[in-house]
Amino acid sequence: MSPKTKSKTPLMRQYDDIKEKHPGTILLFRVGDFYETFADDAELVSKELGITLTKRNNGGDQTPLAGFPYHALDTYLPKLVKRGHRVAVCEQVEDPSEAKDAGRKVVNREVTEITTPGVTMSEKLLEHKRNNYAAAIYWAGGTAGVAFADVSTGEFALSQVHKNQVDDLLQSISPSEILLSKSRKNNVPAELQDHNITFIEDWVYEGDYGYNLLTDHFETHSLKGFGVEDLNVAQIAAGALMHYIQETQKASLGHIKRLQAFENQEFMSLDGSTKRNLELITSIQEGGTEGTLISILDDTCTAMGGRLLRKWIMSPLKRLKPISRRLNAVEALNVNHDARENLREELEQVGDLERLISRICVGRANARDLMQLKLSLAQVPRIKMQFSKLDEPLLNDIRDRLKLLIEVQERIEKAIQEDPPASVRDGGIFKDGFNDELDELRDVARNGKNYIAKIKEELAQETGISSLKIGYNKVFGYYIEVTNTHKEKVPEHFIRKQTLVNSERYITPELKEVEEKILSSEERSKTLEYELFEELRLYVSEFADEVQRIAQALAELDCLQSFAEVSYRNNYCKPAMADDQVIDITKGRHPVVEKTLPPGEPFIPNDIHLENEDEQILIITGPNMAGKSIILRQTGLIVLLAQIGCFVPAKDAHIGMVDKIFTRVGASDNLAAGESTFLVEMNEAANILNNATRNSLILLDEVGRGTSTFDGLSIAWALAEYLHNQPSVAAKTLFATHYHELNELENMYDHIVNYNVQVKEHDGKVIFLRKLVRGGADHSYGIQVADMAGLPSIVIERAKEILKNLESHSLDITDSNGTLAEGAKKKAVAAKKAAKDMDKQEQIEQMSLFQTQLDPRIEQLIDKLEASDPNRMTPIESLMLVSELKKLV
Ligand code: ADP
Repeated sequence: MSPKTKSKTPLMRQYDDIKEKHPGTILLFRVGDFYETFADDAELVSKELGITLTKRNNGGDQTPLAGFPYHALDTYLPKLVKRGHRVAVCEQVEDPSEAKDAGRKVVNREVTEITTPGVTMSEKLLEHKRNNYAAAIYWAGGTAGVAFADVSTGEFALSQVHKNQVDDLLQSISPSEILLSKSRKNNVPAELQDHNITFIEDWVYEGDYGYNLLTDHFETHSLKGFGVEDLNVAQIAAGALMHYIQETQKASLGHIKRLQAFENQEFMSLDGSTKRNLELITSIQEGGTEGTLISILDDTCTAMGGRLLRKWIMSPLKRLKPISRRLNAVEALNVNHDARENLREELEQVGDLERLISRICVGRANARDLMQLKLSLAQVPRIKMQFSKLDEPLLNDIRDRLKLLIEVQERIEKAIQEDPPASVRDGGIFKDGFNDELDELRDVARNGKNYIAKIKEELAQETGISSLKIGYNKVFGYYIEVTNTHKEKVPEHFIRKQTLVNSERYITPELKEVEEKILSSEERSKTLEYELFEELRLYVSEFADEVQRIAQALAELDCLQSFAEVSYRNNYCKPAMADDQVIDITKGRHPVVEKTLPPGEPFIPNDIHLENEDEQILIITGPNMAGKSIILRQTGLIVLLAQIGCFVPAKDAHIGMVDKIFTRVGASDNLAAGESTFLVEMNEAANILNNATRNSLILLDEVGRGTSTFDGLSIAWALAEYLHNQPSVAAKTLFATHYHELNELENMYDHIVNYNVQVKEHDGKVIFLRKLVRGGADHSYGIQVADMAGLPSIVIERAKEILKNLESHSLDITDSNGTLAEGAKKKAVAAKKAAKDMDKQEQIEQMSLFQTQLDPRIEQLIDKLEASDPNRMTPIESLMLVSELKKLV
């Protein structure tokens, strides 16, 4: 013991011991009616919760201290956890008098619960329609094992992927907490840095520890039965996760019944930027759900359905059979309005079965939870009835999985009162007639006074003392009082307890027995009810597996009906799915934008045809705001909707299934920390080129915008060429660009076609027609769009002047040298056009350069051009030349 420890009070020594066992955790230390925190914890807690920080004189040491009353725990604990902290609650586990009797200076205390962002059962921290996952990651060479679990629902899954795919996987599950081994502490991958990370001792990852932990938990000899026996890297992650959950939950985890392999190969792959840019479940701007696909698609009636819908959206299918099964089920529900309506009504009455059964298993449930479970189970036969006539394989399968748990329902029904209390310790839970002993106890408690009166009558008769009284005081409880007049009549078995002036007080064994019954019956009935409740809870928890399976089937049914309902209300069509390489959409719409346009502004539908061997790459030009991005996104969303089994916003759609969707959007607002827009953009482009296949769909929006015009144009050009020429990555591609120069590609390559989003000019203003038509756009209308955006007219007029000047000057360059070869001329025109597209700041800078054009540099320009041989230059080389020329001026 160090001298410092020695000087500490016994309470602080106890605190230190417990604190040391829970590193990285805020320890809420119960002292009487308060939860106290000390030292660093106190400073943190006082800052996070805005509570006062004081000093405690602890043997000369001024330890900072911050505490709050015990009843504020429900408010403060979730606040701390929401901010990413892990919080351990340390309770007094004995009565202070017991400690005194045993000669201990402080009461025994124990950590009874640890709540962390990713491991919690707290209603205050959980969102209804959202899973709350903790994920563990373990790397071995190029392979990564990822395990994730939601203790509130009992889901536990693992996946083994290439190390580059971890980020995508995490995007799908968006865990609230990530577990890494301590050895990674100084080497946390950049993409994980924004997460709540908890470091786990290295030994947890070693040897067979994790594997044994899993087999012990699932009570199996191996993990073969779960189909994950070969995923040995993922098993290590799963072991660490199980270790962490056990350490924090400190309760039975009987509701974690299965280890599921999360099969990445089964699902379409969506990279992180695609999920973001298509705004599937979070919007780019606000980070909320407004304007997202899920905000349109979610018409689920249950929490389980809501959670499953998120998973479905994040993992579209890619095999024809399961997609068709879903689509056919949705169709059946879509056309049968009555069935759907009734089904929805019945589903509304179902509680959160997954979380109910989890609470029941870990011992956090109350009688209301059991009632809720009963009512929800009672909905199952009603739900089955509503779609009993819809004969579709998937619906039939769901119906089969919706087992009735009559015995559980009946058992709860028989036991629990109609409107039970929230507490399980204060009695009032069980029905009369459920348990004889309880009935008797309750009877005694309720009729205590009558009982005593009855005894008094009997004694008076027996002794012949009519004035005999029964009274009560704190010292000896119930007593018989006989006045001195009748003293002689007192029978022998009365035991004298007290002599007063005029009377004597007695007790009898019988009276004491009754007293004991009355006084303790209430206490005893409370305890008995608690025991009975525990018994019932354990009985119900035996059915966790069945309840989870029912919940899963209901969740699927709920998602399907939601698709059917949304498709019906928004006039979606059933897509024709095929294993081919054609995407053909007639009158497609953007599911979100069509709902958010101001009144009177109709959404203009567009057709899209993509086909590997024909129109493989569409170059889509058109001024800013014309609607290019919307066309790209709606195409991505329509394909995704089809592959999650939902109808699509179109008049007609043929979807040749896609294995991956890639989206690259040149918006400046998805800046990753510390990286330039351009670098992010190039990383994403590299990812596309490395991972796309012929069956992918690529959406490229304004690629190259993050750099100078010439660099950008060159990169865009080269990208398009590569996607066309490399057979292995020749994916169907929509390429929106404001570089009209790319329209040249159509002449050079068979499978590249030009389209533009039409606009009309009228009175110097642009009218957006939003129609996608064949052919390239030849005009950028930048200044007109700026005008419409409300830039002051003086700026607009000046911009027009500058533009005119630019156009004439750049023409001068070519004109001034009649010997220029055709190709170079063309590139010079390209330069002129590109300059036209530059933003205003650049234009103004250019302008000042052109004003000094009589500069001898012109000669240098001409020299350069003459030295080049356009006939032997690739497009990229010519662009590079143009870029060099630009540098000269
Ligand atoms: P671009 O990518 O060409 O700059 P966007 O695709 O972002 O333009 O479209 C700009 C705006 O035009 C959208 O926010 C939307 O309000 C409107 N819009 C786009 N497409 C349509 C359409 N098909 N029908 C109606 N409005 C549309």
